[in-house]
Amino acid sequence: MTTLGIGGAARWFFRARTAEDVARAHRWCEARRVPLVVLGGGSNVVVADRSIEGLVLHIAIGGVDFSGRDGEARVQAGAGEAWDPIVEMAVLRGLAGLECLSGIPGSAGGTPIQNVGAYGQEVSQSIAGVTAFDRASGEVVALAAGECGFGYRTSRFKHTDAGRFVVCGVTLQLRAGPPAIAYPELIDELQRGAIEAPGLIDVREAVLSVRRRKGMVLDRADPDTRSVGSFFMNPVVTAGVYEGLAAVSPGPVPGFPQPDGAVKVPAAWLIERAGFARGYQCGAVGLSSKHPLALVNRGGATARDVLQLAARIKRQVADRFGIWLVPEPVFVGFDGDADVRYLLEKR
Ligand SMILES: Cc1cc2nc3c(=O)[nH]c(=O)nc-3n(C[C@H](O)[C@H](O)[C@H](O)COP(=O)(O)OP(=O)(O)OC[C@H]3O[C@@H](n4cnc5c(N)ncnc54)[C@H](O)[C@@H]3O)c2cc1C
Repeated sequence: MTTLGIGGAARWFFRARTAEDVARAHRWCEARRVPLVVLGGGSNVVVADRSIEGLVLHIAIGGVDFSGRDGEARVQAGAGEAWDPIVEMAVLRGLAGLECLSGIPGSAGGTPIQNVGAYGQEVSQSIAGVTAFDRASGEVVALAAGECGFGYRTSRFKHTDAGRFVVCGVTLQLRAGPPAIAYPELIDELQRGAIEAPGLIDVREAVLSVRRRKGMVLDRADPDTRSVGSFFMNPVVTAGVYEGLAAVSPGPVPGFPQPDGAVKVPAAWLIERAGFARGYQCGAVGLSSKHPLALVNRGGATARDVLQLAARIKRQVADRFGIWLVPEPVFVGFDGDADVRYLLEKR
């Protein structure tokens, strides 16, 4: 049930189709003191090789409803709905806000967890709120976007309140309008297609084709997509660190200035310059032949293989550039594991 195709079996497994199912699963776990592990599409988790001594709660709450008029729309999506069809429906209705998030795997309920983003858009820009089962109070609560603690690939669901809320539904607020075209790669792709005044559908198609070239659209026929997408986040460094980086690098260092003066540096660039080329192979794991940021299960890899390669990359990037990469996926079932501790360490 994971896109990496890695992970031990669940001791208990339950598929929740309603918020009441989530409440029942929570009460069952509380009564037996059993840990509860929430699983959506399994596209952003690295699950330990040993079995999970807990209840894996697979979120399968369905339903998508578009309402509104005069170019405004509210979309209510069950957390278990697949994400990309929702993007497609919005684009086909002429609603802007999600077009650059085309092709991201996983569930609607998974999108607020790390505030998914791509090509200059983040889902938090379109989320009006979420409904969630609050394990602290045992109630279903409505949280407005401002209460979700969204940041770059993060939210309160992933960090400060990890494990507390089970997202049952997501409400999106969309508007008719032009597509967002800000990201250089997307602009290049549209120019290559010689599309004048691209619309939402053109942008969705362009995003999907750039993503496919990078192995970032799930495809059983493409072994480079057996991953969690980007394994490391792009580090955001101070202007001083960025200048230091430029001083030790032979060519120009790519960097995206942030509003606060910091600079976001592509992790992919650091990884390649630290000696890990696309297609790098180490036993059953390796890097995608299309993108150095995706760690790929080449068949029969274990979670340990993934952790060890990730740790080697992190160490080499730190040695070469003094920058500590931080992983993007969530690690499940690794209590106290030294490799995971090292991977999550920040400097
Ligand atoms: C090929 C590929 C490309 C990708 N590209 C991108 C990209 O461009 N941008 C990006 O941001 N991400 C990307 N990802 C990562 C991933 O697809 C997203 O983070 C996605 O939103 C995860 O959703 P999921 O349902 O698969 O979550 P899962 O992997 O099932 O879970 C991830 C975490 O969220 C929690 N969770 C999931 N659902 C719920 C819920 N309903 N309530 C509470 N907690 C929940 C889980 O407990 C876990 O901690 C990519 C992944 C792959 C494999």
